Amino acid sequence: MRSTMQDYPLTIGGILRHGTTVHADSEVVTATGDGMRSMSYADLGRRAAKLANALRGLGITGDQRVGTFQWNNTEHLEAYLAVPSMGAVLHTLNIRLFPEQLTYIANHAEDRVVIVDAALVDLLAKVLPTFETVTHVLVAGPDAASVDLGLLRSSGKEVLLYEDLLSEQPDTFDWPDVDERDAAAMCYTSGTTGNPKGVVYSHRSAYLHSMAVGMGVSAGLTWEDRVLPIVPMFHANAWGLAYASLMVGASLVMPDRWLQAEPLVRFMEQARPTVSGAVPTVWNDVLGHLEQHPADLTSLRLVLCGGSAVPVTLQQALERHGIRMIQAWGMTETSPVASVALPPLGAEGERLWLYRGSQGRLLPGVDGRIVADDGQVLPTDGAAVGELEVRGPWVTASYYRDDDPGKFHDGWLRTGDVGTLDELGYIGLTDRAKDVIKSGGEWISSVELENALMGHPDVVEAAVVGIPDEKWQERPLASVVVREGATVTVADLRDYLAERFAKWQLPDAWTFIDAVPRTSVGKFDKKVIRRWYGEGEIDVEQPGH
Ligand code: ADP
Repeated sequence: MRSTMQDYPLTIGGILRHGTTVHADSEVVTATGDGMRSMSYADLGRRAAKLANALRGLGITGDQRVGTFQWNNTEHLEAYLAVPSMGAVLHTLNIRLFPEQLTYIANHAEDRVVIVDAALVDLLAKVLPTFETVTHVLVAGPDAASVDLGLLRSSGKEVLLYEDLLSEQPDTFDWPDVDERDAAAMCYTSGTTGNPKGVVYSHRSAYLHSMAVGMGVSAGLTWEDRVLPIVPMFHANAWGLAYASLMVGASLVMPDRWLQAEPLVRFMEQARPTVSGAVPTVWNDVLGHLEQHPADLTSLRLVLCGGSAVPVTLQQALERHGIRMIQAWGMTETSPVASVALPPLGAEGERLWLYRGSQGRLLPGVDGRIVADDGQVLPTDGAAVGELEVRGPWVTASYYRDDDPGKFHDGWLRTGDVGTLDELGYIGLTDRAKDVIKSGGEWISSVELENALMGHPDVVEAAVVGIPDEKWQERPLASVVVREGATVTVADLRDYLAERFAKWQLPDAWTFIDAVPRTSVGKFDKKVIRRWYGEGEIDVEQPGH
């Protein structure tokens, strides 16, 4: 029997319509450095219509790609809404990528128009001449009129001021009917190996993912919330927080380019967010700042944190400032949020922190399994270790114009993450497959060592990588950043770890560095450490040698 429920499409256009009418009274607030500017969702809807008219006027039709080169701000949100709703495809460019990667992805996606923040004009100007399919650049933001556009113009592309263009447009748009399975947005993985790979989100996948992010099993959003996405809108769609907020009328508070701890904390005190999302490194910096300069951040009821493992010690330290941090796991390929580490009912004490330290419980719609090297599916018992595979309506089934069958397995996405899944659907990752340290046939988890080291009061950050070893194949090298003025030694740190790890798991090579190198999205960049080691660029202490 077929149901006769209406086949009403799940689209970004639907989110735009609902968010800017039913929730016309919510607002988007953007940091300006010394204050903030705000706009109601009603006005946001009118501006999205103006933008769609402007883009049509520039010749954007069908599923052509519109690139954005922007921080998290009102104008970026306008593009998030207007571009997919007019049937075109939003391509968020990661401003922190290397120039050659940006060139590759803009050409691979065949971007036509790029919207750029005035503050990022110089950065874009360096690569713009290599963007072969781009015809127009729109310069957005309150300072756009006072920025020197000479460099951009010398690229031969037509450069226009976003506000000038919008001011000429009607504030309604005849939004087309869009098939929910059509492309809405695309995002390239940061490409730690090889070329970046494009993931194409459909309207349906973005809609369902946003609903899941808004549910009580994730951020639990309502219009009483003020959501602060610190995670960039160019990194996996700011974890769905923008669309999820529009869907339920939560106001959005956008940090723009003020992402360092000091202005960020000031902005949080002013804008009073209730929910936020960012990678652990950002919160580590915020925490360091709070310890020197106490501030009242108790408006925050929930901080979602992920992108790399979130040490329990970081969560506990923030809890002492009245901030509850919950870990989430996901990847660009999974839209990204796939699991959230709210602990199970009744978990207390050590058991509670075990769950809070996990990568989280699978969201409804997302299936997970653990698979051995030989492809055999392992038990879901929290003990069997293998590669995590996932599937679901917001998990990609392929990459854009790039065959990579090795990443897919019988309809499941191979995540490249190694760990366990327990009977309650909690993921426990021990490593990324490429970072696992194989010593004498046994695996050593770099993540567990890092988390333990970062729990030492004198350690700010620590990254552990495998280095070649004649006898054991690989051994762990710990790169440690110590707190200013601390006098901690390798022997102290080894003793500290020895309380928690077997002797054979302890790093036998150590180096003290000024900062752990980061990738474009703020994760530890372990390949740089491996290179430093390989090229003899760091002083290494090997106490046992
Ligand atoms: P990239 O692969 O370029 O780093 P992504 O942002 O898509 O870009 O990264 C996804 C990866 O980030 C996951 O496969 C996983 O290795 C890591 N990751 C994300 N969240 C967590 C988490 N909570 N704990 C550990 N690793 C995480």
